[in-house]
Amino acid sequence: MDIQLSGKKILVTGGAGFIGSNLCEILLKKENEVVCLDNFATGKKENIAHLLEHTNFTLVEGDIRSLADCKKAVEGANYVLHQAALGSVPRSIKDPVTSNDVNVGGFLNMLVASRDEGVKRFIYAASSSTYGDSESLPKVEDKIGKPLSPYAITKYVNELYADVFSKTYGLETIGLRYFNVFGRKQDPNGAYAAVIPKFVGQFMKGDSPVINGDGEYSRDFTYIDNVIQANLLSIVAEGEEAVNTVYNVAYGERNTLNDLVGYLKEFLSEFDANIKNVEVLHGPNRLGDIPHSLASVDKAKELLNYNPEYSLQKGLKEAVKWYWENL
Ligand code: NAD
Repeated sequence: MDIQLSGKKILVTGGAGFIGSNLCEILLKKENEVVCLDNFATGKKENIAHLLEHTNFTLVEGDIRSLADCKKAVEGANYVLHQAALGSVPRSIKDPVTSNDVNVGGFLNMLVASRDEGVKRFIYAASSSTYGDSESLPKVEDKIGKPLSPYAITKYVNELYADVFSKTYGLETIGLRYFNVFGRKQDPNGAYAAVIPKFVGQFMKGDSPVINGDGEYSRDFTYIDNVIQANLLSIVAEGEEAVNTVYNVAYGERNTLNDLVGYLKEFLSEFDANIKNVEVLHGPNRLGDIPHSLASVDKAKELLNYNPEYSLQKGLKEAVKWYWENL
């Protein structure tokens, strides 16, 4: 999909992270001015190293927990794509205070800085975790349950704050509830790595991945290019109905962990036939995990013209190739 978007000044917070660095890259390619605010808590210099020389790219090394850093980074920006946060449900269970400081305190700072700077629109990374214990499938935006983790609370509070800022101060906001995003540049290492890069890294080393539970939990795995599309569409969206609301950002299909591992084996075996024989292990279910997740993407289709182009399999083929060439 070719989305016309150029000549804007856009702040990407968390721009050195997985999703943020992909956003910085595409925005620069489309000839926008891009500012990246990041403290490198989980982001990496190598994700943006190739952008540093670009005349339209500025890196502000700073922390969203500091209002002064947020104000400095947002200067002159027309749009904010707020991605900075501490991700991971288990991380938030281990250290809820820091997750809250960054994800709630930092979020509020960014809203205040954006309001004061007269930013046109504040688009932020919300999360499917907001559906919490709701068992209904597919997930529809206006039907959520109770949060199941400190992380989920922080992401829900983001939505509440965004709503209040749009009503109280007239700041346009759009929340994008991402569902299990994967793709190039997602970190395969560390205690809080997401399942796809982690398993790819393990398979490539010949190590056995461990599935939490029997592998029949399912997710709406979403390739990065679908997420990029949703962000760009949120910038250009017009009409009252499209703004000051939240959208599911997913492919709209669910696959089990067992399906996922099957695809990974198949696609990685094209690079190394031995991977077919790597044993897959099972461990206990993880605290705070919801059994099934599937998004309805009808609202984004209707109001943003969202049209996700990558299924799990199509995206995985791209991702696996990227890891093979870059890990
Ligand atoms: P990531 O960890 O790769 O990126 C987050 C970025 O934020 C990193 O570059 C990190 O250094 C930066 N950051 C963290 N704390 C900061 C602080 N105090 N000040 C400035 N920068 C800070 O994660 P990601 O997967 O790219 O996630 C991006 C956003 O999307 C997050 O808000 C996350 O909660 C949300 N999200 C991601 C997924 C997913 O599946 N990846 C799903 C739902 C929501």
